[in-house]
Amino acid sequence: MGIKAVKFGGTSLSHAEQMRKAAEIVRSDKERRVVAVSAPGKRFSGDDKITDLLYRMDQAKTTEKRNELFSLITGRLDDIVASLGLPQDFSREYREVLMTARGAELVSRGEYFCAKIFAALIGFSFADARDVIFLDEKGEPDMPKIEKAMRAHLEQYGNIVIPGFYGAGPNGETVLLPRGGSDITGAIAAAAADADVYENFTDVNGFLLADPKTVASPRTVRELSYEELRRLSSMGACVLHSDSVLPLKAKEIPVLIRNTNDPDGEYTRICAKKTERAVSGIVGQRGYLLFSVYLTGIGKNLADFHRLLGIFEAYTSNVYSTPHTIDAVGVLVYGDDIGGRKEDILRDLFEKLSAEAVTVTADMALLSVVGEGLSSETARMILQTMAEIGAEPLLVDGGADRMGVTVGFDERYLTLLIHRLYEKTV
Ligand code: ASP
Repeated sequence: MGIKAVKFGGTSLSHAEQMRKAAEIVRSDKERRVVAVSAPGKRFSGDDKITDLLYRMDQAKTTEKRNELFSLITGRLDDIVASLGLPQDFSREYREVLMTARGAELVSRGEYFCAKIFAALIGFSFADARDVIFLDEKGEPDMPKIEKAMRAHLEQYGNIVIPGFYGAGPNGETVLLPRGGSDITGAIAAAAADADVYENFTDVNGFLLADPKTVASPRTVRELSYEELRRLSSMGACVLHSDSVLPLKAKEIPVLIRNTNDPDGEYTRICAKKTERAVSGIVGQRGYLLFSVYLTGIGKNLADFHRLLGIFEAYTSNVYSTPHTIDAVGVLVYGDDIGGRKEDILRDLFEKLSAEAVTVTADMALLSVVGEGLSSETARMILQTMAEIGAEPLLVDGGADRMGVTVGFDERYLTLLIHRLYEKTV
């Protein structure tokens, strides 16, 4: 019998009714034997994710606040247990763990309790991520060790539910993955179990060709390559964590992004090789700044270029593009990444680099049309559409990976440009 690894996100487990749907999905296919779960997420808009409540509890300054959050969190978990009619009683564990733990140990408990509840609901065996997901000093998965643990567990029990979002560090301590990291846990588990497929169940029918906040009912993208997925998620398409494909690539395990509320509906398949040539996404984001730094000869002097990037490194680890000519280098950053420190960067550029002049173009949007092997068609389409609507291209980038074309322009044109490009693509 084959193995399907499944991951359920926070909205798929936010309350008892959602948990029942998720349980039904697992039960409907005997091959779904490896399950990773997030912590219960928002039940409605404006609601809190359990993980956010745990972060708040960790930062609470007073015992009163901590107790208040403790009641909120345990109340929600108990409510799920009671509504599902499960016999579990976590009260001792709540007191022992939630009241004493701090940091990663505390914040990871949303996934921990959720996995225990879900395992009981579907009659699978629970395995603490600390006993299965081993991370090295860089936070990378130790695959041989994980594979061994996974094999042993599956041989003994035949199935497994693992809490997402954390694992054991080199000394056995709890280490968190990045936010949204249960996707990564599911991928690590899928790779370690040699699964035939990794099904990621969320609250949408896969990747949409454009942001539904901009385009009404955009169509689902049928297929994406692993690389395209990484490109799209780096530009804000956050259906699946971009690092999740890394453990899957070597074994070429495909990922299916499916909807817990519509399990038989449309979905996106992410794989090593696409079967069709098609645009995979139109993604855009506002809030970028382009620093144009003038210094005679900088474009052919790597030492100066290096010093320039060193200045930015002190403020952000993310630089989106560095288009340059002989006497000027542009550095494109995301406004939120540098916070309100534009003036400090300017000061450093003059004092530490002896820049001759610096101009800053603010309120820029970046838009990418992603699609493997389609660069020349998409570049033509984007530039022509920009000319039609009067948007001046401030940056044009064919992409070092030739996976898509990115343009930068005045952010006021973003919505219109996305609309026009969507119409031309479908
Ligand atoms: N619960 C964690 C978060 O909110 C991890 C996850 O949901 O994947 O980021």
